[in-house]
Amino acid sequence: MTNISEPAWFPLALRLDNVRVLVVGGGMIAANKVRLLLAHRARVQVIAARLDDEMRRWEEEGTITHIATSADATTLRDAMPGCRLVYAATDDREINRAAASIAHEMNIPVCAVDDPLPSSFITPAQIHRGLVRIAISTGGAAPVLARRLREQVESAIPEGTGELALFMQAQREYVGRVCPDIVRRRRVWETFLDGAGAQAARQGETARARAILDDIIAGTTARGEVWLVGAGPGDPDLLTLRALHMMQNADSVLYDQLLSPALLDRVRRDAELVFVGKRRNRHTMPQEEINAELVRRAQAGQRVLRLKGGDPFVFGRGGEEIEALMDAAIPFQVVPGITAANGCAAYAGIPLTHRDCAQACMFVTGHARADGTLHLPWDSMARPGQTVVIYMGVSALPALCAQLMDHGLPPDWPAAIVERGTRADQRVLTGTLGTLVQQATGAGIGSPALIIVGEVVLHRVVSPA
Ligand code: SAH
Repeated sequence: MTNISEPAWFPLALRLDNVRVLVVGGGMIAANKVRLLLAHRARVQVIAARLDDEMRRWEEEGTITHIATSADATTLRDAMPGCRLVYAATDDREINRAAASIAHEMNIPVCAVDDPLPSSFITPAQIHRGLVRIAISTGGAAPVLARRLREQVESAIPEGTGELALFMQAQREYVGRVCPDIVRRRRVWETFLDGAGAQAARQGETARARAILDDIIAGTTARGEVWLVGAGPGDPDLLTLRALHMMQNADSVLYDQLLSPALLDRVRRDAELVFVGKRRNRHTMPQEEINAELVRRAQAGQRVLRLKGGDPFVFGRGGEEIEALMDAAIPFQVVPGITAANGCAAYAGIPLTHRDCAQACMFVTGHARADGTLHLPWDSMARPGQTVVIYMGVSALPALCAQLMDHGLPPDWPAAIVERGTRADQRVLTGTLGTLVQQATGAGIGSPALIIVGEVVLHRVVSPA
């Protein structure tokens, strides 16, 4: 319950362009406020005994006016008339309070910085994205909390939100004209915001955004789309902000076995989850069927999220799925993810390149053909001066190690295997081409696991506990 003696802070958006604002103080506290005021095109006048560097620079450039050096009562009374706001921003609370009481007398809103009691307004933590302004206030009670909340809100706002607001502003009059009914107009905008149109506007593709908006107004839409999104190697903290945003907006999600439950937990509650995973030699759903399912759902108007482990374009058959979508003229977006090589290397502490021993890094698939054979560029893999990362190589590990040695790498050539990389139960084994098979068998290493071959393994770093 609110304490009745607590001030009731009412958030407003105030116009400051070309308006006079008085700032008392010339140090860092004042500079922080002046920077904000200048960003809002206020005409800033300053009373301060001396100006710190940044303030002095503004004064020299003529951006602010230094009107007096003494904050005595007469000077303040003379300076305040005609000001829309007063900031009492010295590092001396008594001076600030004295300035505030004069402002109160003259009925001018005043903020004594970091001192809500004598203030008639406070400055919230802010997010600016073009026309969009978000202000967060704790009523001056906990500024650090306000800033933390601002970070959280900021990370939830997609890139390009400022552009989106500009586009909607530019189309507002037009939509109002062709869509006079207010309820229908709201539906149009909601549909627009949920779909590819908003995405186009965020990316500055205004012509495409306008075409989609017109489709929606004409009622010819219900066009779904497919988002091919990389979910990273397992740790949900490695999702991109974009992936998370899409997971929270999809109608249905097609995922495979690489996806950890912790990741799927982040999907919108009422989205339909469809498992289309493939296990080696045990196909749950053939690729052609997955392609057809994506097309079918998008044609039914759904926003379909095809969520893939790692990156969709690294051993993910993302290209094939896109081709099927293009053939059916379904709009799509591709969102990259952290691929297993990057995730496992970082979490295992093994660099992928190193100036002393690895000037290149190669990603290879160790997936054997149907007849059990491996067709790989052995000569270029079995070279010093590089790192070879092998995906899907657990079953073929004995053949992989043997071939690399047959093609010239010594048995004591460093090699590692990372099982369930980035997840809570990650395991890392380091050894050599000569020992890794036995180590992996002994430890019972299973899928998913990634093999890293090269001298970088010797540069493994482990953080102190
Ligand atoms: N598109 C995925 C790779 C799919 S192929 C990506 O970019 O990461 C599947 C192979 O990726 C697995 O057999 C394994 O070698 C590797 N892999 C995926 N996630 C992994 C993890 N968390 N730990 C170790 N290897 C992983």
